[in-house]
Amino acid sequence: MVKVETIYVETGGRTDFIDITGKVRDIVRSSGKREGLCVVYVPHTTAALFINEGADPDVARDIATLIDKLIPWHHADYRHAEGNSAAHIKSAIIGNSRVIPIVEGKLTLGTWESIFFAEFDGPRRRKVIVTVI
Ligand code: ZN
Repeated sequence: MVKVETIYVETGGRTDFIDITGKVRDIVRSSGKREGLCVVYVPHTTAALFINEGADPDVARDIATLIDKLIPWHHADYRHAEGNSAAHIKSAIIGNSRVIPIVEGKLTLGTWESIFFAEFDGPRRRKVIVTVI
């Protein structure tokens, strides 16, 4: 039995990282699945999904700061008429899905790991599709 649920995320800035670990855990728990895979997917071209340290909020802040510096909002080589090429590039580099094994009913995240929704063209209302298989 496959369980599919949607998480809605309200982002607050052009770049904004939101920890969705608790919501993903709730979906895995309610699925009743003991062993399997949790696929977390973002159906947006200017957002992304990554797993990294959630214990110290400065880590996510540092990632956001450096990504914004490495891929500036304005660049002479951008052609995309919508004006948000930087957001598309960040989304493409980081990626829009992650797969996490489920063992004994739990996500096998490391002690310090959290699942982050990464906004790069906010603020917007976004969605994350969580599939437990
Ligand atoms: Zn665009």
